[in-house]
Amino acid sequence: MGAKKPRASRDDPFYSRCVRDLGLLPKAHLHVHLESTVRSATLVEIGAGNGIEVPPGVSHGPFRFDGFRAFADQNSRVRDCLRTPEDFRRIAVEFCADEAADGTRYAEVTFTAAAHGERLGDLAMPLAAVMEGLAEGQREHGITVRVLLDHSRRQSVARLRRTVELAVRFADQGVIGIGVAGDETYPLAPFAPVLRAAREAGLRLTHHAGESAGAASVLEAVVVGGAERVGHGFRVLEDPEVVALLRERRVPVEVCVSSNVALGLVPSVAEHPLPRLLAAGLVVSLNTDVPNVTGRSLSREYAAVRSGLGWDDVAVARVARASVESSFAPDGVRAELSAGVDRWLGVAAGA
Ligand SMILES: [Zn+2]
Repeated sequence: MGAKKPRASRDDPFYSRCVRDLGLLPKAHLHVHLESTVRSATLVEIGAGNGIEVPPGVSHGPFRFDGFRAFADQNSRVRDCLRTPEDFRRIAVEFCADEAADGTRYAEVTFTAAAHGERLGDLAMPLAAVMEGLAEGQREHGITVRVLLDHSRRQSVARLRRTVELAVRFADQGVIGIGVAGDETYPLAPFAPVLRAAREAGLRLTHHAGESAGAASVLEAVVVGGAERVGHGFRVLEDPEVVALLRERRVPVEVCVSSNVALGLVPSVAEHPLPRLLAAGLVVSLNTDVPNVTGRSLSREYAAVRSGLGWDDVAVARVARASVESSFAPDGVRAELSAGVDRWLGVAAGA
């Protein structure tokens, strides 16, 4: 092979000079769990402060898991390290710093507030501390962050009710919605009345579905759970009728390519069904879900998709715009971000 000139590839320095800087793309980040954004060094320090020795197998990604269960174990060990108001405040500030440095302009971050609150014997403390940290981080780093509170399907209806109460209580500080997550084989029906009440209280709804379970879970998320967006949702492709439902109702899916690969749900980025979701006419945003597991920030996620799927920057900008449009941000914020995406594409193209 030595003397033979390799075929030009997207990794060539020449080619990479021809593509735009994804760090400068103004991004909306809609599906990311705060507990899965904690810096490795921060987690070790926070753990030490709470008398917990965190092994590198928990703190230092990237990781590759053999299914959802192994990921959930790592995730619960991370969550267990977080104990004091300062722990929660710190990870929220650092989230803002890291996202802003990566070119995210608007984020909807998910936080499992009631689970931490119940675990620590003070229901509101973790969320109060996170909101304090986000306020500080937004001021310092010039990023807009809103919060979604999630609830595991394996947990009780009573806990979901407490989660909704917390969301309403902190709505004026930037909590905007509720999401049901966790094992998708657990039915949503028991939670439906509380989710309806949440919607009536002005909260937005986005549920995980079509990740570990099939298209029926996506149908359930929309019809029973009232989802306005679907987290992951890629397995919707198993049923054309559910695909048609999402398309007709314009329910966007929050695709997280590297997360699906890291959790062993999809073999590789190149084999991800993202192109088929777009070809089916669905509205698709691109997200990280669990950046400390994948080792990829949102810019790196875009880069992985651009090279793994062979996209040009027009395709990149299309998904960046769809991410903005899928967000729960006010119209003015969305218009400004979309214009920024156009500038990124136009200015760098020399137009
Ligand atoms: Zn998720």
